[in-house]
Amino acid sequence: MDITELSDKIIVGDRRALARAITLVESGRADHRAQAAALMETLKTVEKQAIRVGLSGTPGVGKSTFIESFGMMLTARGLRVAVLAVDPSSARSGGSILGDKTRMERLSRDPGAFIRPSPSQSHLGGVARRTRDAVALCEAAGFDAVLIETVGVGQSETVVAEMSDIFVLLLAPAGGDELQGVKRGIMEMADLILVNKADGDLKPAATRTCSDYAGALRLLRKRPQDPEGFPKAMTVSALQEDGLARAWDEMTALVDWRRETGHFAGRRAEQARYWFQQEIRHCLLAKLETPAAKAMMQDYAERVATGEVTPTIAASEVVKHLGD
Ligand code: GDP
Repeated sequence: MDITELSDKIIVGDRRALARAITLVESGRADHRAQAAALMETLKTVEKQAIRVGLSGTPGVGKSTFIESFGMMLTARGLRVAVLAVDPSSARSGGSILGDKTRMERLSRDPGAFIRPSPSQSHLGGVARRTRDAVALCEAAGFDAVLIETVGVGQSETVVAEMSDIFVLLLAPAGGDELQGVKRGIMEMADLILVNKADGDLKPAATRTCSDYAGALRLLRKRPQDPEGFPKAMTVSALQEDGLARAWDEMTALVDWRRETGHFAGRRAEQARYWFQQEIRHCLLAKLETPAAKAMMQDYAERVATGEVTPTIAASEVVKHLGD
């Protein structure tokens, strides 16, 4: 594959080239990995910047309905929208449930939108690394907004937050007074909490839930990357397409403020550091998976078991000879 040709096509917004490039970065084959790395290197100088929005919520909260309505609102304004997903469940099921085009049929037919389901990989780390590259590819292809969807089950939120400029938590109206067991760590990551389904009979509950969360957010420590009033909680109805324009206004206001104050670039720089660390971990762990390393470990494991070598010495020998 000609990487220069591929990158030229991506830069002018060729969707097929973009789809091919994402397939390339998702591939586990060594030659593909090398090509993908070369492609990402070529594209790193592209200066277009999308707003990367991480979006999390438990199943049923209305993520696909929201992304569809929100995405259509943005494309109607002439903006180009990409939807990607980090699906922690693909590790278990081998299938993907997020970023699925059948969940967003109208948006998937919209020429201003590009939807890509979560790559199926054996672990979240693999999915996340590939999605991060896919985000950069969409950005190079000139998309104005990249929405990265995930399910609220812990670890996946952290990795999505590490590839997003803004992190949005989608919640449903609570039945009782409880704060839906949202973990403090996730609350602390959120820039915007959207309480969805604020329509019909659910509206009073949505309003109550929203003010509960607004109160909870006020109790959190103030972060330097937030202007006055953020993080913020507000109600929306994805179904009735209500509050979506306001949500976008809040997101762009936050991004504008962060751009002016340097926090936007600062956060991306921090994220680059984070992914560099992750990459090192990944490369080192991959070295343990080679046949030679496995044989060496097996050999040392037996010698450790018989007491011939201590575990500490054996481990340091293995580490010393990794990659020989
Ligand atoms: P996901 O699993 O988070 O992607 O949730 P879905 O988008 O599939 O929505 C789950 C259910 O909630 C569906 O029956 C939707 O029609 C419903 N739903 C989504 N958004 C709204 C909303 O704004 N108002 C109401 N009343 N129902 C909604």
